[in-house]
Amino acid sequence: MKRDIVLAVDLGGTNLRFGAVDSRGRIVLRASAKMGTYRRKSDLLGDLAGAIDGFMAEAAALGRPRAVGLGFAGCTDSSRGLIYFAPNVGGFKNIGAGPYLERRLGVPVFVENDANCAAVGEHWKGAGRGARSLFMFTLGTGVGGGVVMDGRIWRGAAGTAGEVGHTIVMAGGPRCSCGNRGCLEAFASATAIVKEYRRLKRAKGRAAPAGRVTARQITGLARRGDKAAVAAVGYAARGLGMGIANIFNLLNPEVIIVGGGVSRAGRVLLGPAVREARGILFPQLARFLRVKRATLGDDAALIGAARLVFPRLK
Ligand SMILES: [Zn+2]
Repeated sequence: MKRDIVLAVDLGGTNLRFGAVDSRGRIVLRASAKMGTYRRKSDLLGDLAGAIDGFMAEAAALGRPRAVGLGFAGCTDSSRGLIYFAPNVGGFKNIGAGPYLERRLGVPVFVENDANCAAVGEHWKGAGRGARSLFMFTLGTGVGGGVVMDGRIWRGAAGTAGEVGHTIVMAGGPRCSCGNRGCLEAFASATAIVKEYRRLKRAKGRAAPAGRVTARQITGLARRGDKAAVAAVGYAARGLGMGIANIFNLLNPEVIIVGGGVSRAGRVLLGPAVREARGILFPQLARFLRVKRATLGDDAALIGAARLVFPRLK
C-alpha cells in the first residue's frame, strides 16, 4: 500500500524548498529550486505552480500526494488560502495563492505563514516535543514567530498572530525595513547582523571585508571567537533577549525555541540573549524561562506545513 504523502513547500525570499512528507513526519523526498523576480502576481503564481507540478511528477512514484501545504514568508490567512502581503517576494498584496494553486494542481492546497509552520514542526518532531505550549522565533532574512498553545497553532483573529519581528524592543532604536524604529527585526535578523558587523568594522577604521559578507559567515566567525563577529551577534542577542522577555511576560510558554539561519550562532547568541531576558524578568518568574535552540533546521517549516495539513484531509 502506498503511503499517505503531503507535499510540503517552503517559499522564502528566493529559495523554494520541497519535501514529500509522510504521516509520521519523515521527509521521504526533497528538492529545491530558485524563484525569479516578478513584476506581476500572476507570473509569480504561474512559476510557483509549475515548480510544484514538477516536484509532484518527481514524487509520483510515492503515490499521488493527498494535498499541498505551502509555508510562505509573509502574512497569510490560512482559512482562505490568502497571502495578505509578501514583503520578500515582489511586495505583492492579497495573493489568492490557495485557490489558484488548487485549480492548477488539482489537489487541496493549504497556505500558512512559514514561522507558524516552523513552530508546528519543532513542536511535532523537534525541540518542542511534548510541550503543551511554545513560542518559536525564526531568525532569518527577517524575523518571524509562531505560537503553539495547548498543542495547537494559535493564529489569531485574522491569521497573523506571532508576527514578533515588528514588535518594538527599543523605542527610537535602529530603523527597520518596515519603516518603524527599534523593531526586533532591526536587531536579530540576518540583515541586521550584517549591517552591525559592517558598522563595527568601519568604526574600527578598517574597511568592511571585500565582497559580500553573509550572516552565515559572521555567525561562523563568532563561533570561532572573532571579536567584531561576537559583538555583532551580541547586538542581535540583546534585541532577542528583550523579545524573549516580552513573549515570556505575555504568553508564559513552557518553552521558547530559537530557530532560523541566525540561530546557527548557537551559544554566542543564546547565552547573552537569555541573560538579557533574565535581567528583565521578575527573578521569581525568570527561573521558569526555558529557551532552546531549534533542532530541525530548514526542515522545520516543511515538516510543520505537512503536520498542519494531515488533520484536514478527508
Ligand atoms: Zn519593523
